[in-house]
Amino acid sequence: MIFDWRYALSLLTFSDFWAAAWLVIKLSLAAWLIGIVAGFLIALGKQAPWVPVRYVCRAYVWLFRSLPLLVLLIFVYNLPQMFPWTGSFFSNAFCAGLVALALSETAYIAEIHRGGLAGVNRGQLEAGRALGIGYFGLQRLVVMPQAFRIALPALINEYIGIVKLTSLVSVISLEEILLVGERLYTQNFKVLETMLAVAFYYVVIVTGFGYLLTWLEKRLDFTSRSGSVGTADTSRGDKVLPIAVATQVRKKAPALEAVNIQKSYGPHHVLRGIDLTVKSGEVISIIGPSGSGKTTLIRTFNGLETIDEGHVRLHGKPFLGSRSESHGNRSRANYRHAISELGMVFQGFNLFPHLTVLDNVTLAPGYHGKKKGAELQSHGMTLLNKVGMGAHAGKYPHQLSGGQQQRVAIARALAMEPSVVLFDEPTSALDPELVGEVLGIIEGLAREGMTMVIVTHEIDFAMKVSDRVVFMEGGVIVHDLTPSSYREMSTDSRVRRFMTGYR
Ligand code: ADP
Ligand code: MG
Repeated sequence: MIFDWRYALSLLTFSDFWAAAWLVIKLSLAAWLIGIVAGFLIALGKQAPWVPVRYVCRAYVWLFRSLPLLVLLIFVYNLPQMFPWTGSFFSNAFCAGLVALALSETAYIAEIHRGGLAGVNRGQLEAGRALGIGYFGLQRLVVMPQAFRIALPALINEYIGIVKLTSLVSVISLEEILLVGERLYTQNFKVLETMLAVAFYYVVIVTGFGYLLTWLEKRLDFTSRSGSVGTADTSRGDKVLPIAVATQVRKKAPALEAVNIQKSYGPHHVLRGIDLTVKSGEVISIIGPSGSGKTTLIRTFNGLETIDEGHVRLHGKPFLGSRSESHGNRSRANYRHAISELGMVFQGFNLFPHLTVLDNVTLAPGYHGKKKGAELQSHGMTLLNKVGMGAHAGKYPHQLSGGQQQRVAIARALAMEPSVVLFDEPTSALDPELVGEVLGIIEGLAREGMTMVIVTHEIDFAMKVSDRVVFMEGGVIVHDLTPSSYREMSTDSRVRRFMTGYR
């Protein structure tokens, strides 16, 4: 039998095929979009803090990934036998096909999203939590945009898979491309010609949408975005301006009080009963060898680490405690309210990469409804100008140097107008020539009377700006003294030797 080219070509304009192609596009896009939304919820559910939710979501993925789509299709299409009231919906082959495809795809796409969620750096969540953003706010503002960007290439690939899977829907007599082809060749036996046309329609759909979605992927990729220059007073350039922090009302109660803080990681007793009092307006530096528990300690002050024993008070009021110390426990709402009193600057900056510099700064006050619209924007610009970053307001974090990123992170920490700012080695991740610009900003804050706790290895800086310097070792505070008391110590003492080691 000779291949009938004329017939094969005529099928390319056959209206039934084009109608079937349109149906495949509608079915696959609908299943994909439902799968993306529902799959994201399942992926979130799989790692939710609530155990029953986790189990239900895991069971869903397990079940629908185990079932062959063909089985699911026939099952869904015949559901009205068992539940006659579903008849009006499932007897429509498109509806039955869509439900079966969406059920199955949701399970696969949930796993793609899980990969995306796992790809979002832990520091991003911590930065959001330190800004008092709640679970759902964090997911919406910080996690989702980043996870979606990571998952997008795999999601696009999945769409192409769905287009081809729609051919299975022919088993429930839906007039899709394969079924139109089968009808034709069972009449004229021109199997190869017909299947060539069938292949053509799938290739056209996959190619067209492949281009479209790849274009979309590029548009959504914030790592390749080049943000505009801000609307700030650019004549100021990068010059660091003095920071006018609202002078704290000196209250009688200490700004921050940590009492008998104990913390273990498994058998490792990392904090062994730490007491520290920080008065309003004081600058306390925490120094000490690596592994002495400095980072762990400062993270217990704002609840990024739980504590096993002891409690933290903020302006005289109970703020955080161990589970066993009920007086230290406060409701989530109270925690979220009080956490805005504490700003945090991280060693690794933890700026939100999908947001511009200005949006990084305005995110928290906007989320908390502290400021709105033009006032919010100008508040953000004021802070950025104060750290010398106004000219970069429209850029994305990846376009900035480490020092610039850390200055933005300081502006972001100040955006909620905290009464205490915590710094965890703010300059350790920076190239030496960039350290000065960040220390300059912190020094400016100190001059303005901001209450600060700074974990640092910059000993000269600590001695210069601090009211007290805390020397930690092995999970305990060995010294809590004024800088001049350290200078008076013998140069042979262990502390002085440690200090000179970092000069
Ligand atoms: P520092 O900041 O003074 O260098 P850290 O507070 O980071 O010290 O760490 C103190 C000790 O606790 C180290 O021995 C470290 O290995 C351990 N540690 C810190 N975080 C964790 C964790 N999440 N799990 C287990 N051990 C940890
Ligand atoms: Mg540390």
